[in-house]
Amino acid sequence: MARLYIGAMSETSRLPKPVIDNWQWQFEGACRSLPTEMFFHPDGERGPRRRARENAAKAVCATCPVLAACRAHALASQEPYGIWGGLTEDERLEIISRASRQSNPHSA
Ligand code: SF4
Repeated sequence: MARLYIGAMSETSRLPKPVIDNWQWQFEGACRSLPTEMFFHPDGERGPRRRARENAAKAVCATCPVLAACRAHALASQEPYGIWGGLTEDERLEIISRASRQSNPHSA
């Protein structure tokens, strides 16, 4: 009876990971104790001020132990705002657009 039960157990390796595992990286981000304003632009911010803030945020990202997970999340979920994984929103949009053109070369 026990053998039958063990043999009937589900194969769990293909199941999705618990949701908390998908977000655990956020607790390890180098930005976790920094102000969000450093990573998200205020209304109307442009030009040198914006570039300076983005470069400061990117410098933090460059030291971050979870940069790859953060970047993968931002690209997969198409995060529309802010610095994620060392990329600005425009840089992510370019990567996403390029990937879309490569996978759909005949689309407009
Ligand atoms: S890569 Fe940048 S935005 Fe992402 S968790 Fe690390 S410091 Fe924060």
